[in-house]
Amino acid sequence: MTATPSPTDFLAIDRLLSEEERLIRDTVRSFVSDRILPDVAGWFERGELPRELAKELGALGLLGMHLEGYGCAGTNAVSYGLACLELEAGDTGVRSFVSVQGSLAMFPIHRYGSEEQRREWLPRMATGEVVGCFGLTEPDFGSNPAGMRTSARRDGPDWVLDGTKMWITNGGIADLAVVWARSDQGVRGFLVPRGTPGFTTRNIDRKLSLRASVTSELILDGCRLPGDAVLPEVSGMRGPLSCLNEARHGIIWGSMGAARACFESALEYARTRVQFGRPIGGFQLTQAKLADMLVELSKGTLLALHLGRMKDEGTLTSEQVSLGKLNNVREALEIARTARTILGANGVTLEYPVIRHMNNLESVLTYEGTNEVHTLVLGQALTGLNAFT
Ligand SMILES: Cc1cc2nc3c(=O)[nH]c(=O)nc-3n(C[C@H](O)[C@H](O)[C@H](O)COP(=O)(O)OP(=O)(O)OC[C@H]3O[C@@H](n4cnc5c(N)ncnc54)[C@H](O)[C@@H]3O)c2cc1C
Repeated sequence: MTATPSPTDFLAIDRLLSEEERLIRDTVRSFVSDRILPDVAGWFERGELPRELAKELGALGLLGMHLEGYGCAGTNAVSYGLACLELEAGDTGVRSFVSVQGSLAMFPIHRYGSEEQRREWLPRMATGEVVGCFGLTEPDFGSNPAGMRTSARRDGPDWVLDGTKMWITNGGIADLAVVWARSDQGVRGFLVPRGTPGFTTRNIDRKLSLRASVTSELILDGCRLPGDAVLPEVSGMRGPLSCLNEARHGIIWGSMGAARACFESALEYARTRVQFGRPIGGFQLTQAKLADMLVELSKGTLLALHLGRMKDEGTLTSEQVSLGKLNNVREALEIARTARTILGANGVTLEYPVIRHMNNLESVLTYEGTNEVHTLVLGQALTGLNAFT
């Protein structure tokens, strides 16, 4: 007789991982359990993410972990995904920090930077000594970043940047901003160190989502940079869009971490909370909710693994990434909302992780391409017709 599958790995996905992948997964899971879970509700409540976490995440090899050389761990994409899943089971803010640092700030320097830029920045970013951010979105251009107004013009040997970037994760704590700006050579990426005259940041407060994450405005007002501040190997929207594709892969996994945390919390609650003289898990309506959550969590995790393996093979397309982001974030949010109902009134407090994850996932649904944008990407892939404009 085979035993009943475990609720936390119902489809025995663990067996599909290599020993090294399991080791990385378990290491990150322990870190989250020891370092994140005891304090994260307080960070969320106060709207902060401790700066020293950067070096701790760096010491674990999680910053730019899928990049080769320059002090980066050089793991495969599946290991990076597993780390994202475990981090987001802690909090989306922590996973966002790692995604932005590795996929949005370090990746463009690694892929499109000069050798000098790579040597100057990547080793210190891998340790967490230098924190990066990625400035693409503007107040008037979110889903349509190609319309950006931020401009870069040559002035003698220098570049001069003007414009405002909005909703930038890590902006207020970043030592280095990767800023995308329109120039007469098309959209180019610029490395803007904190302290550069004409460059300031302003934090966006009063968020009710991703509170354990710094989100800021970047203001560039006649910001003068040396000629070698530009990323030399890319021009056009291909640059920022390739970075977003990298980060979306992490989100496909991470969202399943948030979903798993909500599912586990709801399952535990359903087993112990008694109403009408029996545990609420004994009612069919609760069981139907738990069964649906399990089905979507299992499918989404398998999808993440499948796409991660394709990424490691080098066959993953951006449309397939869109499918993963669309499905997994949508389902994670549905799981979080359903878990919230199982917890009743306790579902609205920070004593349990569910509403924190649920609110965080509202941001994940919007950033890195909204639900609607990824739907249109799939629509265009299917029909050949562009419904964006
Ligand atoms: C917490 C947080 C962190 C973020 N971090 C970063 C970061 O680090 N760097 C960065 O550059 N950006 C970041 N963003 C910005 C994020 O990427 C944008 O919010 C996102 O691209 C959507 O842009 P918008 O908010 O301007 O919405 P809009 O583009 O104005 O969209 C509003 C609504 O209209 C819909 N819509 C738009 N166009 C169409 C269309 N053609 N057809 C149908 N529906 C459409 C959208 O799907 C959405 O539902 C972050 C956002 C948040 C909330």
